[in-house]
Amino acid sequence: MSTNYCWYCKKEVKNALSEGTDYHGFLVHRKCLEPCKEYENDLYDEYNRNRMEIFWNKALRSIKKKYNINMYFEEAQIVYDKAMSDYKKFQSSQEMMAAMELIRKRIHTKVQYPILNYKVDFLLPELKVALEIDGGLHKFQIVKDSAREIAIMNELNKEDTGWEVIRIPTNMMEKDIQKLVPAIKMLYKKRQETRRKNGGFLPTNWSRTNRDMQLEILKEVDKTTDSYKGLLTDEKNQQLH
Ligand SMILES: [Zn+2]
Repeated sequence: MSTNYCWYCKKEVKNALSEGTDYHGFLVHRKCLEPCKEYENDLYDEYNRNRMEIFWNKALRSIKKKYNINMYFEEAQIVYDKAMSDYKKFQSSQEMMAAMELIRKRIHTKVQYPILNYKVDFLLPELKVALEIDGGLHKFQIVKDSAREIAIMNELNKEDTGWEVIRIPTNMMEKDIQKLVPAIKMLYKKRQETRRKNGGFLPTNWSRTNRDMQLEILKEVDKTTDSYKGLLTDEKNQQLH
């Protein structure tokens, strides 16, 4: 019979039945089970903290390319605290950038908001927008009402009509974060107009024609600027949930 070793302390487990136990398919000493679990938890915690720290730094560097970063000082701290208190709140640096910008613009924001079995990146009740930050261009191209989008839209529009799911490409945000809110507003307007003309629906060729149109709209946003108005930290803090 071969010798058994504990995967945690690396020492021999003399009697696997009395001395050993299973940890996700790995043999460990019974006495090693708790320290093993703790070690793994710490490891994941460290990994997640580092991951959030990297997203956060990347977000600030992207903003800094175009704007005075001091303009985002309080916003950055709020997002940092949020990210460290819940590692699931932000999945990318661009989502953090969006959160910072939405706070700066005093837009009430719910992060990773659950709708049915889905989660939208941001829910903006004042704008009636479920905002999704889109990574790949392929996702950006699929702007027609997908099954997921339809389900989310139906749920949101149940009580109060006029909700839209708006997708903003990450590369646009990296280029100029201050275009985010004007872009949301323009895309919202365009979608609502298109729906009105089509009896409440987006036409089936929407996905093909919409990409170019969406790019045009986003180009238009260039002309829009908003001046920064100072805010008390408490007030800003209350905006992000
Ligand atoms: Zn052991």
